[in-house]
Amino acid sequence: MPTPPRAPATGPDSQAGADGDTAPATVCYLGAIGRSGSTLVSRVLGSLPGAVSVGELCWIWTYGVLRNRTCGCGQPFLECPFWTGVGQRAFGGWDGVDAGRANDLRRSVTRHRHTPELLVRPVGRFAHDVDEYVGLLGPLYRAISAESGGAVVIDNSKQPEVALVARQASGVDLRVLHLVRRSHGVAYSWTKHVARADKDGREMLRKSPAKVCAGWLSDNALFETMGRTGSPRLLVRYEDFVRAPRDATRDIAAFLDLTVTEEELPFEGPTSVRLATDHSVWGNPMRLQTGAIPLRPDEAWREGLSARDRRVVTALTWPGLLRYGYRD
Ligand SMILES: [Zn+2]
Repeated sequence: MPTPPRAPATGPDSQAGADGDTAPATVCYLGAIGRSGSTLVSRVLGSLPGAVSVGELCWIWTYGVLRNRTCGCGQPFLECPFWTGVGQRAFGGWDGVDAGRANDLRRSVTRHRHTPELLVRPVGRFAHDVDEYVGLLGPLYRAISAESGGAVVIDNSKQPEVALVARQASGVDLRVLHLVRRSHGVAYSWTKHVARADKDGREMLRKSPAKVCAGWLSDNALFETMGRTGSPRLLVRYEDFVRAPRDATRDIAAFLDLTVTEEELPFEGPTSVRLATDHSVWGNPMRLQTGAIPLRPDEAWREGLSARDRRVVTALTWPGLLRYGYRD
């Protein structure tokens, strides 16, 4: 299996963390299009011994360091003890990193249009920016793991562009959990009005079914490509996860080299999971829910999606529907 390209040890990465911690980190990167159930899956995985869920880590600069939004634990990011410890380990404190610059790099480097360059070898100024951003990610991932006692980091950033950059971070063993949900369910979810408590009640973004389908096809293809170009990848269907969560979680734990006993699985009976507080830096508002959460296949699209939109989604995504076994 070929090894993905590695960035040179420049910038903060050359210091291997402000406290000299050089222990490598295993990262479970959830690859999925938004509204595929990845928040639930990442939180279930983060509740396992030896794992820590941090939500959509790619937004740490925007919503964490710069805007100080609410962490999953309920504290403002900069007051959360967990993230304070991470910042200290990685950069000698959050004052030790130029978060504005990091955010500019995140925005410029992880654009969808850059995926061809990220899949091969970036050149010129773009290559320099990629290396600079990658130089921040290595210490960050390693610090999260170290702050959690060497845990596997569950990163729910989802976007393939972000994964293509993150897998280059030094001292990071990035494995892709490729989560697929039926395109009709994803498309319907993007049409719904959802207010988010962690953004002053503003609504989550909505997209047309046609636009969602284009992303569904391209993102799934990119995660398959990552699997063929050096990144360990496990494919899981969301529908299978919620129907048989114990089996799916055991399979994923094995993929991550986590040893988990039956008693350590967070499920209550066949249809419920108990979730504790975590330190998600950003993500779907569901990240803030704790306690018993029902697990059931969400088939609301069968009633909610108009006949026209249903035909549009089928027409646009049928190769993927067949590939992933959605035949009914
Ligand atoms: Zn927190």
